[in-house]
Amino acid sequence: MADADDELRRRLTGAGASHSGGAGPAGEQTMLALSMVSGDVRELQLRLDRLAEQVEQGDARTAEGARERLQQETEALRAELVAVAQTVTELGETVEALGAEEEEKEKPPRPWDWEAMDWRQEVEAIRTLAEWLPQLHAAWRPALSTVPDKAQTPLVPECWAEHPDMRRALSALYVAYQQAYKVKKRRPHHETDWYRALHERLGDITQLASAYRCHSASEDKPHMLLRGERQEAGAERVVQRMVLAQLHEAEAAGRTDDALALREEFDLDDETVRVFMAERFRAVLSAPTASQPVGRLESARLLADYQVVGADDLRWAQWLSTLMQDLEAIGHRGDDLSGLARQRLEPLLEVYGPLLRKYDAIRKVIPILVEQRAASEAGDEHQVRHLQQRIAAEIQGHDITDEDIQVVWEERRAARKKH
Ligand SMILES: [Zn+2]
Repeated sequence: MADADDELRRRLTGAGASHSGGAGPAGEQTMLALSMVSGDVRELQLRLDRLAEQVEQGDARTAEGARERLQQETEALRAELVAVAQTVTELGETVEALGAEEEEKEKPPRPWDWEAMDWRQEVEAIRTLAEWLPQLHAAWRPALSTVPDKAQTPLVPECWAEHPDMRRALSALYVAYQQAYKVKKRRPHHETDWYRALHERLGDITQLASAYRCHSASEDKPHMLLRGERQEAGAERVVQRMVLAQLHEAEAAGRTDDALALREEFDLDDETVRVFMAERFRAVLSAPTASQPVGRLESARLLADYQVVGADDLRWAQWLSTLMQDLEAIGHRGDDLSGLARQRLEPLLEVYGPLLRKYDAIRKVIPILVEQRAASEAGDEHQVRHLQQRIAAEIQGHDITDEDIQVVWEERRAARKKH
């Protein structure tokens, strides 16, 4: 019993428990909770007194039973009280931890090291700046809102997130701003520093914007990085492209769960993903590795997953046919890429098989058409009719239009010119 009492006393007074019950908000909280507990203790005392009275009034036998009940109840209550005291102690520690966190915020802000960030930190950093910029614009207009002699042109261009050097200038500004106005330990010179930073960094950004031609509306001298997608230059678009690149990487590495999680987390719709993957597909085709197995397999994957080439696009038929021959060759080599090549070939044949058969039929028809044209020019009606029948037989069942033939004709002529 003495042990239990000691434990209770220790809990209630906070003795033995490290740094609780001292000064500061955590200590005050603990004291408040303890005074509530001591209220409970007084009530317990009253209940015990009532029980004792009942014992005195009863006869010896019932008194014995009541004493036992009293004993049990007292122990139960004591255990309850220990639990309450435990909770109070924990509460005090939590409050103290919160205080420590608050203190952390009071430390001076540190410069952002963009090079050391992983992609998620980069996303967060871009979003933080994007959220802060309107405040900056609102508070520091008109110095910020226009380029001199170019009214309505924002000094920080819409495409800032596309430019790592502008991001750095802006994060330096952000940090200077936090130091000047947002942290507890700030000094008058921090405000002077902020003014200087504002002036200098905005000067940098203006120079960069002019070098990248961020404000250019000229067709001849377009933006250095963005070209056709000027209107999509917002920060969130940059974030989206970063996420899409991660998605592409995850899918290429076969990490389907990660890919799915990314799509959900960043709310990527199918069309956005398809457009991006079509872009990746073009990049794979123009990469130096395009004709190597790794390039062939990656193009095949993007084709099968996203059908970045229309299933009826005859302009791609020749290329598709070469791709499939290459996949078949890789599949027969018997090395570690062979299984993958065969796996990639199957869905491609399913999607593009009809297109390739149609293409083959048209290729057979073209020389007959040439012959037919010559016969027609020579006025050989009989030969013209005979060739017409041959053409009809070749294209039967392939749903081939004059336009289809024209497409392949043009494409083959262009290919001949190239060689
Ligand atoms: Zn720009």
